[in-house]
Amino acid sequence: MKVLVTGTAGFIGSHVALKLLARGDEVIGFDSLNDYYDVNLKKARLARFMDHPRYMHVQGDLSDRAAVEEVFAKHRPDRVVHLAAQAGVRYAAENPHVYVSSNVTGTLHILEGCRHHGVQHLVFASTSSVYGANLAMPFNEHQGTEHPLTLYAATKKANEMMAHSYAHLYGIPCTGLRFFTVYGPWGRPDMALFLFTKAILAGEPIKVFNHGHHRRSFTYVDDIVEGVVRALDRVPAADPAWKGESPDPGFSGVAPYRIYNIGNEQPVELLRYIEVLEQCLGKKAVVELLPLQAGDVPDTEADVSALVADVGYRPTVGVEEGVANFVRWYREYH
Ligand code: NAD
Repeated sequence: MKVLVTGTAGFIGSHVALKLLARGDEVIGFDSLNDYYDVNLKKARLARFMDHPRYMHVQGDLSDRAAVEEVFAKHRPDRVVHLAAQAGVRYAAENPHVYVSSNVTGTLHILEGCRHHGVQHLVFASTSSVYGANLAMPFNEHQGTEHPLTLYAATKKANEMMAHSYAHLYGIPCTGLRFFTVYGPWGRPDMALFLFTKAILAGEPIKVFNHGHHRRSFTYVDDIVEGVVRALDRVPAADPAWKGESPDPGFSGVAPYRIYNIGNEQPVELLRYIEVLEQCLGKKAVVELLPLQAGDVPDTEADVSALVADVGYRPTVGVEEGVANFVRWYREYH
C-alpha cells in the first residue's frame, strides 16, 4: 500500500512511518519541519528512516494548497494518515493564526487531495481535548464536544466536522482518532514528560499545575501507533439502510465516517506520573505546585469500547513501563 503520512518528522508521525515501513508499505512523508520546537530533534527522528528504500520525503507546508495538491497528483497515495498539525495549547496565545492555517486550512487541503485523487481511506488525528471540561467520566464518543476550551481543541473539532462533511458529500471513508496524552521515546520537548525530565536532571524546579491532581489517560506511543495502523486497515463503510440513531458510537450511519477514542483506560494522577519518573531517573523533583491554568482540562479518561468493538484493539502499556522506556531513550539521545 502507498500511504501518505503527514507530520513524519513529528513525534507520533515518525513512529507511524517506521511501523508502516516495517510491514512493507510505501510511505510518502510530508512535513514542514517548522521550528515550533527543536528542529534537530525532528531531523533526528527523520534520520531513522529517511534512507529507507520505500520512504520518500516531501518538505512542504499544509497551508500551501499547491504543494499539497502536487503531493497527491505526483504520488497518488492509496491511503492517508494525517498527523501534521500545530499541536500544543499554550502556543496559541501568541500564534493563533498558525492553528487555523495548519489545522483548518491544512486539513481542507488534505481533504481536497483525498477527494480528487480517489484516496481509499483518510485517518486523521483528533484529540481528547475536544471533550473540554466534560465532567462525565470516562469520555465516550456519544458525549457532547461542542465546548472546546482552547483554540487548538476548536481546530481539531473543526477537523472532525470537515471530515464528516467530505465523507458524507463525496463518500471519502474517514476515521478520526481522538488521542489521549501521548508519551514515549522521541517525545515532544513541549510536553510534560520531556520538560520534567530535563528539569529534574538539571536540578531545576518543575511547574506542576492543578497541584498535580490532574488525572490523565497517559497513552504510550506504541499503543497509539498500533491503533492508527489497525484503524487504517479498517475502512469504514456507509450504511445506506441507516434510518436513525446508531448504536455504534461515533458512527453517523449515512457517511463512511467513524470517530474513536484511543487512550489508556487507566487514568493516572500527575503526581503519580512524576513519582514514576523520579524512580526511573533515580532523582527527586523540586516541585512547584501551581493552580489549574485557563484552558487546562482537569481530568481525562478514555472509554475505548468503540475502538475495541470495531478495530479489535485497546492500549495496554502502563506508565511504569512507558516512562522507563522514555527515560532510556532520553539518556541515549542527550
Ligand atoms: P508533533 O508536533 O511532534 O508533530 C507534528 C508534525 O507536523 C511536526 O513535525 C511539524 O513539523 C509538522 N507540521 C506542523 N504544522 C505543519 C504544517 N502546516 N505543514 C506541514 N507540517 C506541519 O506532534 P505529535 O505529538 O506527533 O502530534 C501528532 C498529531 O496528533 C497532531 O495532529 C496532534 O494534534 C495530535 N495529538 C497529539 C497528542 C499528543 O499527546 N502528542 C494528543 C492528541 C492529539
